[in-house]
This record gives sequence, structure tokens and C-alpha cells, in this order.
Amino acid sequence: MPTKKIVLLFLSLFLILGVVLTPARAEGGKAVRLGVNDKLSTIEAVSVKNTYYVPLRALAGELNWTITGLADGVLVTGGSGSLTVLKGDAGARLKDGTVVPLSTFVQGGNLMVPLKISGSLGYIISFAGDKYLLRVKDGSALLTDEAFISKYAAELKPAATPEPGPSATPAPADGPAQPVKTGKPGYTVYLTFDDGPSATTAQLLDILAKYDVQATFFMLGNNMNKYPSQVKRIVKDDYGLGLHGMTHVKGKFYASPAAALAEMADDNAVLKKLTGASTTLIRPPYGSKPYFTKAFRDKVLSQGYHLWDWNVDSNDWKYKEDSDSIYTTVMNQVHKLKQSKTDPVILMHDQKATLKVLPRLLETLKKEGYTFQAITKDMEPVNFWKDKR
Ligand SMILES: [Zn+2]
Repeated sequence: MPTKKIVLLFLSLFLILGVVLTPARAEGGKAVRLGVNDKLSTIEAVSVKNTYYVPLRALAGELNWTITGLADGVLVTGGSGSLTVLKGDAGARLKDGTVVPLSTFVQGGNLMVPLKISGSLGYIISFAGDKYLLRVKDGSALLTDEAFISKYAAELKPAATPEPGPSATPAPADGPAQPVKTGKPGYTVYLTFDDGPSATTAQLLDILAKYDVQATFFMLGNNMNKYPSQVKRIVKDDYGLGLHGMTHVKGKFYASPAAALAEMADDNAVLKKLTGASTTLIRPPYGSKPYFTKAFRDKVLSQGYHLWDWNVDSNDWKYKEDSDSIYTTVMNQVHKLKQSKTDPVILMHDQKATLKVLPRLLETLKKEGYTFQAITKDMEPVNFWKDKR
């Protein structure tokens, strides 16, 4: 069944998306009861940064997996295969020996792992945030998701937990993802950082982690090769991933539509080689206007890529260390967008000067009620050509 195979492959790829967590951060997540085939289990899945985590031991019990302690981790055998959750957040080793990034944490004495590891063992995960459905299935499930939802309707709906702020729907989880929708229109910020990774990416990520905000990185292949550990951390910490080409040289990238496509494909290959992850989000160097014309878009977007520009330009490349000007430039544009209830997509660069202005920007945006999300492939792209592919 090729469709099923594709879904499994997709879920396996998702394994590489994990988050570094501390229990303190995890406690802030929303919980939903996990469906296992046709029954509603007592397992509470906790959502952190759009990933659902479950206690490994309890999940293994429900799915009849065998857990074996190894010197370097925990071997999980079940479903259609096996994998090893490595110690010290070193990732997960798949059956074929590949190691992919994976984050775990301990909560209430339980080792919490992303539910999506079951995807690598051949299970299908369904999710419907508005129906509180999170369900893991193998071939023995008889109920459709709709039937499952109506059977357990009363129990699925969580007891009213006072949740301050505007986001009342559970965060989307694993598997075929849904667009992230949180907050009031105009109050979700998509931070984007171009041209990285760089010598200061680690400090940038520390700032993002300190404020617990999401962001998307449009990276250059040549810089990924230069700073591989930074790319790995970006993937492991579950940030949004985007391609920015290899060379950033106008004469090369825009030489022809085929040249542009080759740069994006090479960029993706570097990302894949270093982290196991890949992406369909792209941002051509200098933005898509005027050079990324219809001929370029037809060539590149027909390969499944989604074109992203921005609607807030920080001009950080111009102002460099002049933090005040960057700050004012960004906030003025953000406030203008608020009037038309438009979510800001902010262009910044992964460069040293960003470290200086970023904390101040994040503090103000948070104070003004904004939440932060990564760009996903399911969103309608924001670009200068209004090309919705
Ligand atoms: Zn650039």
C-alpha cells in the first residue's frame, strides 16, 4: 500500500522534530487523553511546542511493546520494528542504525517521549485539535476517527482548565499537521532569521529559549556546512526550517529558474545530510521581488516548495548595531499590521547585531499580547507575488 508507506515515511521523518525540555516548561503544556486503537486510554498526552509527549512505559503497556535497558539507552520493540531512545537526549537510533534528533524529559518520575516515535514503529497517529482527538492506531483499529470521536465525546472534552490568554484550542500534534492557529487575528508573530547559521546562532537560540518563543530559520547550505552543530540544535529544538539557497550570489542564484531550483534542492540535501530533516519552505535571497518572476516560481514551486517573504522588514542588515532604529522600525510596522488584523512575519538576520535588539523586541511583543509560532507548510504563504502555492 504505497499511501500507507508514504504516511509512515512522513511520520518517521517527523521523528527528528523534538524539543529540548525541562519539566518546568512541560508543565505549561495542555493535556489530552490518548486514544489507543478503539479504546480511550488513561494516558495523558502533554503538548509542548506543538509536540505531544507521552509516558513511554504506559504507552508501551498499551501497545504491548517490549522495553529493554541498554548501556546507551532504552530499546523499544513493537509494532513493525524497533528503535532505541538514547540517553542524554542524544536522539533515537532507528532500526537501520540512523540516529535522529529526539527530545525526552522526565515528568512525575516517567520518561516522556514524543508520541510520534510510534510512527517509526508502523503506527498511524490521528489528531483533530478541535475535537480533542489524539489517537494511535495499528491494523486492529475498527472505528473510524469520526466514530471514535462520537463514541467518546463526553470523555474527550477536557475538564475546563482555566487557561489565561487567547489560545483555547489544543496545539496541533504529530502526523499530518494542521495550520497553527492561536491568538486573535493579528497577534501571532512569525519571527524569521535569514542567512544562518552563523558564529552567533547559539546565543540567538539561547535568547529564543529564554523567552520560550518560536521562530523560523531560512538557512544557507554553505553556512550549514560551516556550522553543523547549530543546524542540529535548530532542528532538535523544533524551530521552523526554511531554505535560502546555497550561494546568496545574485548572479548565480538568479542565473536561471533551473539554477534557483538546484540551489534550493542542494540546500535541502545539506539539511537532510546533517539532521535527517527536510523542508518545503523557501525564501530566495533578497526576497522574491523583483527577481523571482513567474518563470522562476513555476519551476521551483512546482516541486512542492512554498514561497515565503515577509511583511515586516527590520532593516537589521542596514542598521547593524543601531538597536534603537531596528526596534522602532519593527514596532512601527507591527502596529500598522495590527490595524488590519494581519499577523506579522518579521524579517531579521542570524547575525551578531540581532542579539542586542532581540530581547527588547520580544519583551515588548509579549507585553502587547503577541504569541510566537513557526511557519509551517500548511499555512497560506505570505509573499510579494501573492502566490498561494
Ligand atoms: Zn539573505
